[in-house]
Amino acid sequence: MVITEADIRRDVKEKGIKFLRLMFTDILGTLKNVEVPATEEQLDKLFENKMMFDGSSIEGFVRINESDMLLYPDLDTWIVFPWGDEYGKVAGVICDVYTPDGEPFAGDPRGVLKRNLKKMEKVGFKSFNLGPEPEFFLFKLDENGNPTLEVNDKGSYFDLAPTDLAGNTRREIVNVLTSLGFEVEASHHEVAIGQHEIDFKYENVLKACDNIQIFKLVVRTVARAHGLHASFMAKPVQGINGSGMHCNMSLFTADGKNAFADPAGDMGLSDVAQSFIAGLLKHAYNFTAISNPTVNSYKRLVPGYEAPVYVAWAGRNRSPLIRVPASRGMSTRVELRSVDPTANPYLVLSVLLASGLDGINDKLQAPAAIEENIYMMSEAERKAHGITDLPSTLHNAVKALQEDAVVTEALGDHVLANFVEAKRIEWASYAQFVSRWEIDNYLELY
Ligand code: GLN
Ligand code: MG
Ligand code: MG
Ligand code: MG
Repeated sequence: MVITEADIRRDVKEKGIKFLRLMFTDILGTLKNVEVPATEEQLDKLFENKMMFDGSSIEGFVRINESDMLLYPDLDTWIVFPWGDEYGKVAGVICDVYTPDGEPFAGDPRGVLKRNLKKMEKVGFKSFNLGPEPEFFLFKLDENGNPTLEVNDKGSYFDLAPTDLAGNTRREIVNVLTSLGFEVEASHHEVAIGQHEIDFKYENVLKACDNIQIFKLVVRTVARAHGLHASFMAKPVQGINGSGMHCNMSLFTADGKNAFADPAGDMGLSDVAQSFIAGLLKHAYNFTAISNPTVNSYKRLVPGYEAPVYVAWAGRNRSPLIRVPASRGMSTRVELRSVDPTANPYLVLSVLLASGLDGINDKLQAPAAIEENIYMMSEAERKAHGITDLPSTLHNAVKALQEDAVVTEALGDHVLANFVEAKRIEWASYAQFVSRWEIDNYLELY
């Protein structure tokens, strides 16, 4: 849908919009916003790309002496929020961040993704599509309004009421998303108690990443209104499944064809799809710091909880890192299962695209698909199949990230340097923390 300045001015008048949220994402994936009153003057400024803000206190943005940044609105992302009317209606638009010289700012994750999409167009693809499957938990709030780890249901995978008491909250989330123009494909209870998944229809990747950011905002806001806290943390509760965000990806060509489909190819996949998979496998260890960016992300990537641990791919089998879901034709796609919802969507899709394109560029051959359960294999059997491990800690992942020319080039120097610095601090803070587990296991033993 193309939204014009006139559409926005009309909406502001007709819907009585009082505030405009100018939204962008920082390097760690947090959605930020500058709010301005929805006056004629501010709208003029917005449409002339003259909205200035001070980026110095935003994570990974800029140094103090070069802190002024401009926000260029992407009008197609215009949304009118369905809540918070008490002080006047609020609408918003996602913006690209530019320097005062009119250059795309290198520290803007959305800009990073756009840069990678340009490279993709140069090698002959029209669009990169993403269908994400974000999972999350709904936790009760305590009497002070702080989140607990207590869930409000006893439901399980695809359960129906009355065990799925959170069903109404989820339905309300879906209603709000639908009213905002999302095409929700599926919404269901996940395997763990208190865990949910909402899938939306695949879109070109930029739109899909914008959707993920708005989705999280909607989920958190609606959950709050129902007295719940929604968490996208990767592994909030030990001993049960964590939350992933499977990424279903495909490349389309200019004539509108799915470049991954080939009825005559092995498993109905084209050579392009096979090489894309090979590229993902080749860079998987090194891009994991971006797809699984928190200390806690690695507590999810362990055997026994439907999350990947090893670098391999398969048709039906769900234990590997990459799976090819059964649908073919236009819906032919590759599903990467390691990504978790703490990842910055723009950055993770940038490195996945670059990895896949590297495989296509080098005409890499995918190794044999593994249809056995990898978790049941011995280390020797895995070795014989050429199956390697994903990183086991954020520390190892960040070290590997810096070694990979394709992945670091996709991120660019500014993002890489700021990301690595932030993650080093995060790891150092965690590494010196003495946990309950250590006390339980060592205090009396030694
Ligand atoms: N929650 C699982 C994960 O951590 C996925 C479960 C599923 O979607 N089948 O990735
Ligand atoms: Mg799913
Ligand atoms: Mg799921
Ligand atoms: Mg899935």
